Amino acid sequence: MSKFWSPLTASLVPYVPGEQPKDKTYIKLNTNENPYPPSPKVIDAIKGAANADLRLYPDPTCEGLVKAAASYYGLRAEQVFAGNGSDEILAFAFAAFFDPAKTVLFPDITYSFYKVYAKLYGLQTELIALDEQFNVQVEAFHSDNGGIIIPNPNAPTAQLLPLEDIRTLLASNPDQVVIIDEAYIDFGGQSAVELIHDYPNLLVVQTLSKSRSLAGLRVGFAFGSEELIDGLNRIKNSFNSYTMDRLALAGAIAALEDDAYFRDTTEKVIATRERVTEQVKELGFAATDSKANFVFISHKTIAAKDIFVQLRDKGVLVRYFDQPRINEYLRVSIGTDEEMDAFIRALQEIVGE
Ligand code: PMP
Repeated sequence: MSKFWSPLTASLVPYVPGEQPKDKTYIKLNTNENPYPPSPKVIDAIKGAANADLRLYPDPTCEGLVKAAASYYGLRAEQVFAGNGSDEILAFAFAAFFDPAKTVLFPDITYSFYKVYAKLYGLQTELIALDEQFNVQVEAFHSDNGGIIIPNPNAPTAQLLPLEDIRTLLASNPDQVVIIDEAYIDFGGQSAVELIHDYPNLLVVQTLSKSRSLAGLRVGFAFGSEELIDGLNRIKNSFNSYTMDRLALAGAIAALEDDAYFRDTTEKVIATRERVTEQVKELGFAATDSKANFVFISHKTIAAKDIFVQLRDKGVLVRYFDQPRINEYLRVSIGTDEEMDAFIRALQEIVGE
């Protein structure tokens, strides 16, 4: 607390990202980064953009990137927004669309940044409980609300909501914006992007951080009706005209163009996830049906927190959430096959096999 803080600053509870430790070299399975490097074409494009033009401001409309993303999904440029990571887009979307006079709905177990944004903008929230198997119950999201946000697949549970359920959700909330946060959709789900043609209240948010291995470049997208994209641009242009720099714009276009590389690395992550899921089950863990680049696992006898601490001692970092309902679970990002072999060996030692 400082006397210089505004009442708003004093009231905030900021998001705490997964740790990026510097004390020793860990096998990092705690922040859902992609273990494979970005496409070499992305590196070339960024190097090509590292030139004298950096003295000039970037294109505030991100036109080249917006067009590349529109053509990737068969959309019009007016249906696409590009931003500095999907977190920034989510922050803009909360401000642009959620109604402070009503209650914003999201799952009780979900991406923990949502409640941080809600607090920042003074929004009231209601947490809608996932069922016992951690599935989203769309019927529970039909009260008179001020907006809805759900990640699909959900984080940290990794489970996928079928498109049919998203249609139901959109149809039963025609007067509110429904945001589907698809940070992990490329690892086994079907995007809801096609539904934006039928539902003007749908905003689909994606990122290049996970499936394009570009967490360090900070690039995200939103797809939706023209009126929603206009709304995001109104907020953005009341905040910062140049959210995306020249290097990010160049790298992101190259990433979308190299679809073969994206498919190859994504398939590798999925194959590793399936193998690791079987191996942890043999070691006495239960695992949710992951369609993401991480698994969500719980051991039948050993406390998750103990496993977390012991893994850390052995140089393997995973994510533990000390919160009700999920404090017996660990979220483990999918690394390379070698990293996951080391993870499994460490687990074998911990569970005594
Ligand atoms: N949504 C979800 C569900 C996430 O897990 C993350 C990653 N922490 C993000 C959005 C933000 O990703 P980025 O800002 O890197 O695009």
